[in-house]
Amino acid sequence: MPEYSEKSRRELNACHEDLQKLFYFVIQHFDCSVIEDHRNKERQNLAYRAGNTKLEYPHSKHNQTPSLAVDVIPYPVDWTDLKRMYYFAGFVMATAVAMNIPLRWGGDWDRDTEVIDNRFNDLCHFELM
Ligand SMILES: [Zn+2]
Repeated sequence: MPEYSEKSRRELNACHEDLQKLFYFVIQHFDCSVIEDHRNKERQNLAYRAGNTKLEYPHSKHNQTPSLAVDVIPYPVDWTDLKRMYYFAGFVMATAVAMNIPLRWGGDWDRDTEVIDNRFNDLCHFELM
């Protein structure tokens, strides 16, 4: 059974307990890696300037303590494998529904289940509603 690395565990443990509950279940079925949890002001604004987020500090759910957002990618990490990221997100979203955890994914911000209308793709981003 896949397990998180120490770094992934540390990042996940800084997240809201619902995100922890969800992603500790997910990894039992789909190997993945936690990329980012809480972002302080410096890291958020760095991400903003790099174009990785549309939000400046403190408006991202990554800026809350505990973090209400987490970035998770299938393992082994391959940023070019978009199909696998969509597959993973579908698995995560369905699991969240089953666990009664209201979740939004960065590939479908308006939560209409369509991805073609998504203007800003952040395919590894999951946040609590
Ligand atoms: Zn994110």
